[in-house]
Amino acid sequence: MNSLPKSLQKTIDFFEKLPGIGPKSAKRLAFYLLRLPQQDLDEAAKNISMLKNNSLYCEICMNLTEEKICAICEDENRDHTTVVIVESVLDLLSMEVGNQYKGIYHVLHGRIDPLNYIGPDDIFIGKLIERLKTNKKKIKELILATNPNMEGEATAIYIKNKILEMLGSNIKITRLAYGLPIGAELEYADYMTLSKALEGRREY
Ligand SMILES: [Zn+2]
Repeated sequence: MNSLPKSLQKTIDFFEKLPGIGPKSAKRLAFYLLRLPQQDLDEAAKNISMLKNNSLYCEICMNLTEEKICAICEDENRDHTTVVIVESVLDLLSMEVGNQYKGIYHVLHGRIDPLNYIGPDDIFIGKLIERLKTNKKKIKELILATNPNMEGEATAIYIKNKILEMLGSNIKITRLAYGLPIGAELEYADYMTLSKALEGRREY
């Protein structure tokens, strides 16, 4: 017999639906919340309930934002001639760590994945082409930063061909380098990584 208070049980059920959380972790998290001050819970509940309404797509780059235009696109100090194309906002956040990259972005919100019925029209490639057409002179380089797997590669190739077809070769198109992770040992690298690293070698 389940003797738990309804709210507690429903919170456990909710956590269980989250990725990577099993029944035990769900219980542990819910009981942890029970020990937090009421004020923290109110604040968290408020933020969660507004999560969707307050997360809009930036009209320029499709990053998530509360305003019409995201803080990155608004930033005059960034290089607006270089655009990195990423699959997701999480990828954008990874690129932002360390503040190495000073340009702007375009977020696709997915990748071409025929096995899961995701085609070019299901992600924001059309928006990218539109954006490039209206900023023809301003944008000088596109860096394709889709993931180095089959779907990411197919997406990069599709975008490159589409741009060549629609806009000609006026924009420089580059792809993030493949290679060995920092601190890796050659002995343990797989064949594909090693051959791609060899291919992408540069003068030293
Ligand atoms: Zn933006």
